[in-house]
Amino acid sequence: MSFELQKLPYAYDALEPYIDAQTMEIHHDKHHAAYTNNLNAAITGSSLDGRTIEEILAIISAQPVAVRNNGGGFYNHNLFWDVMAPGGAKAPEGDLQKSIDHSFGSYQNFKEAFTKAALTRFGSGWAWLVKQGDSLVISSTPNQDNPLMDLAEVKGIPVLGVDVWEHAYYLKYQNRRPDYVDAFFNVVNWDEVARRFKG
Ligand code: MN
Repeated sequence: MSFELQKLPYAYDALEPYIDAQTMEIHHDKHHAAYTNNLNAAITGSSLDGRTIEEILAIISAQPVAVRNNGGGFYNHNLFWDVMAPGGAKAPEGDLQKSIDHSFGSYQNFKEAFTKAALTRFGSGWAWLVKQGDSLVISSTPNQDNPLMDLAEVKGIPVLGVDVWEHAYYLKYQNRRPDYVDAFFNVVNWDEVARRFKG
């Protein structure tokens, strides 16, 4: 069994003008495809063959670095495409909104803390909104690590993530990561975040 590259759930240009079509095409068709292919190459014939990606991430500290990097890259990008949607972001609603208010005081406080995590991640990595029981916390991880990995500093269920590798924004935003992260909030798919929060 091998992992398959998930189709992008919308057109390359669907997130314009916030995320440009060329970035989306290269990011999905080249970067995400490479993580997927390299993950399959790394696990074929090993004891990990046939396990789910979540099962692999839960025991990642005992695996070769190629599985860590590419398994993370495979999972993280699947999440990333799904937590974005065209048509403008709505606000969080229902239990998710309540948990954001309970955990951070307000949506605005959450947004500031999430942005800070994204901007202070040195080099390449991700910022996360992480479910821990009924609560939410914010974290960031280097490279392609994520909160499902047994070696993560902050563990839990990732419900929202933003990719802050330069490949995610350099064509349109060059070095301006703050502008990219600000734009990201315009395409967050809060319905999908709520679905992941509900579990
Ligand atoms: Mn990426």
